Amino acid sequence: MRTEVYIALGSNLNSPPRQVQRAISSLARLPETKLIHTAPWYRSRAIGPGKQADYINTVVSIATALTPRQLLRELQAIENQQGRKRVVRWGPRSIDLDILLFGKRTIKSKILTIPHPHLTRRNFVIYPLADIAPDLVLPDTTSVQKLLANTCAEGIVRLKAGETLGSTG
Ligand code: AMP
Repeated sequence: MRTEVYIALGSNLNSPPRQVQRAISSLARLPETKLIHTAPWYRSRAIGPGKQADYINTVVSIATALTPRQLLRELQAIENQQGRKRVVRWGPRSIDLDILLFGKRTIKSKILTIPHPHLTRRNFVIYPLADIAPDLVLPDTTSVQKLLANTCAEGIVRLKAGETLGSTG
């Protein structure tokens, strides 16, 4: 049986659009997994220490037969392949992959928190999620529409297809 899973992608290092595209291609090739939707890309202002480059963020949905742990391992392998170095918390990264939702499951373990805490707090996650899953309801029954209504678009810009340059307004 395959589960519908939502994954957030973010990059602000080493040609972010290229990093995001490469990660999406890798996700599409995961075992027992099918890529379902890719949201529009957003440019977002970095949150974190010092002056950092803007991020490219998006969300994809997949249908997978992998377990949450197996999927986490696969995502970490993709991050490692793309040269991600864990130097500074919240620091710049070539690619960050987070499991936002894993079907209707709620998981709180040492290595996994699902739904991911960013899901209800970060506009660069909520906007692209709502683009591809406007009718989605979270395990705690909060609707994505409600999240969207309570979230302002400050610091994020939706990019048009093929557009990767420009700055956040
Ligand atoms: P970060 O540096 O933000 O990518 O955090 C990486 C760590 O977050 C990993 O070691 C994971 O074990 C942990 N983690 C907890 N929940 C999640 C999740 N839903 N998706 C991805 N990583 C997670």
